Amino acid sequence: MSANGLRLAPEKSECVVLTNKYRYREPNLYVQGCQVPVKKAIRYLGVQLDTRLSFVDHVRSVTDGSRKATTALGRLMPNIGGPSQSKRHLLMSVVHSRLLYGAVIWSEQVSGNQECRNLLLQAQRHAALKVARCYRTVSDMAALLLARMSPAFLLASSRKRIAVARRTGVIFTKQAVETEIIQGWQALWESTPKAAWTKRLIPDLSRWWYHGPRQVSFHMAQTLTNHRCFQKYLWTRDRAYSPACSHCPAKVNNAEHTIFACVFWSEQRRDLALSLGRPVRPEDVQDLLCDPSTAKLPTDYHQRGRILSCSRRRREMFVKMVERIMGRKEELERAAVGSGSVTYNVNPLSRFSFFVFLRNVFNRISVENDLALVVVVTAEAVSRAKVESSGVVKDIFWGNPAPSKIQRWVGG
Ligand SMILES: [Zn+2]
Repeated sequence: MSANGLRLAPEKSECVVLTNKYRYREPNLYVQGCQVPVKKAIRYLGVQLDTRLSFVDHVRSVTDGSRKATTALGRLMPNIGGPSQSKRHLLMSVVHSRLLYGAVIWSEQVSGNQECRNLLLQAQRHAALKVARCYRTVSDMAALLLARMSPAFLLASSRKRIAVARRTGVIFTKQAVETEIIQGWQALWESTPKAAWTKRLIPDLSRWWYHGPRQVSFHMAQTLTNHRCFQKYLWTRDRAYSPACSHCPAKVNNAEHTIFACVFWSEQRRDLALSLGRPVRPEDVQDLLCDPSTAKLPTDYHQRGRILSCSRRRREMFVKMVERIMGRKEELERAAVGSGSVTYNVNPLSRFSFFVFLRNVFNRISVENDLALVVVVTAEAVSRAKVESSGVVKDIFWGNPAPSKIQRWVGG
């Protein structure tokens, strides 16, 4: 090295033993009289190399970095308003470049490791939630679909295959690479136990990818994921007294009931039902949101044009219907909370649950309300909290009070 004019700094050097053995003797290495420490993993050209070359340490490190980038970029992307989905996608491409750095080296080991796959999916999920304006509890599978972000480990595998093919002189087209990723993603989509409702609405991933909408609004994301302003969802998270619909006698209010069945919203569904000649069903969503596939269209120019314009008209009607229903539903919910007295189902034995509930209430109280009185009624106990719009808890009562006291509180 010194003959070539290179100098080594032995005090800054470290080494890693590459072996498949669980037990091995660490070597004592000396360079220019200085002992080189043996580490479990070292960073070389931006990639963490661990003893068994599993790249778990590398994946942990890049997912941590991409989370920080997502948090920083996410501040630019509110769920309502903010940049369009294509701009969000562009901004979040930073996350992919971080996650997929050196993918050619580690993709093979990572694809077979469930822990690494999960870490990559979780990091992507944070970015996808912001891109597709989804609520924070939406699963990784549903968020990736709505954000049109392919799973990172599939992208990594495709990069590896392209690199190997280039060495052998074979050239992959962009279309062939994309088709391969979509096929892998479809298999994952069909096997996942997550995102059951989204899977029911959009079973064919390639149709969504090639012919689906390029932008999903905040209300459409709620409809497609069954998360947020539905009684069933709120009830499972201790934020509603019951899962029943507040507009009709139905025992469960979820996205399916609200958008497709509840009689309260019949007027909003009328135009689309007239166009279809029957009531709209969850099974129609894929056809309504995605253009018909080119292979199925007739060859006649005029017929093709008629089918495409009809499809676009129905898509507009469906989007309008969802926006009208969800927008009004939100208004009604806000009005109910803003009236000052709200009843929630909270486990009285869990103070944590109660404080989570209070935090949620703070987020909902409008600034115009100087003081809101919140009454928490459960089967076993009654608790009361007086909160101000600033979020300061004035007074909390805890335990099993006498019925007369409850009456006074509820009345007061
Ligand atoms: Zn209903």
